[in-house]
Parts: sequence; structure tokens; C-alpha cells
Amino acid sequence: MRRHGRVGGKTITCDICGAKLSGEGAFLRHIKEHLIVSVRRNGMDVYYCLVCGQEFITKNSAITHLIKRHGLE
Ligand SMILES: [Zn+2]
Ligand SMILES: [Zn+2]
Repeated sequence: MRRHGRVGGKTITCDICGAKLSGEGAFLRHIKEHLIVSVRRNGMDVYYCLVCGQEFITKNSAITHLIKRHGLE
């Protein structure tokens, strides 16, 4: 039943969507996607930070915000 022998291949499962991520870095990158929500307004996509509710025009600036403001890396 038990299978060992894999070294350093830590797989982390996302509690929110069940995605399997290989390694902590991939997981942290993935979890950011859940902290940003995109909303269509006036024919334009705007992005919201779910932590503080601030809005952004691009997803990239929202991700930068998460890293700088909320310490997510
Ligand atoms: Zn997920
Ligand atoms: Zn925020």
C-alpha cells in the first residue's frame, strides 16, 4: 500500500480547488490566483484583491499588490 522513494517531490494540494501543485513555490503562485477576483464592468475587466477589496486594472498590478501589501511571495 505504501510507496516511498520519492525525494524532494513534495506535492501540495490546494484546499480551495483541489489542484495539486509540485512544491511550495508553485503552490504560493497558485494561491494568489484565488485571492484575486476579476469582475467585468463597463465592458472592462477589473481585478479585486479579496484580502482588502482594493481594485486594479490589470491582474499583474493586483498580484504585485498582494506581494507588497500582504506579504505573499
Ligand atoms: Zn486552487
Ligand atoms: Zn489587498
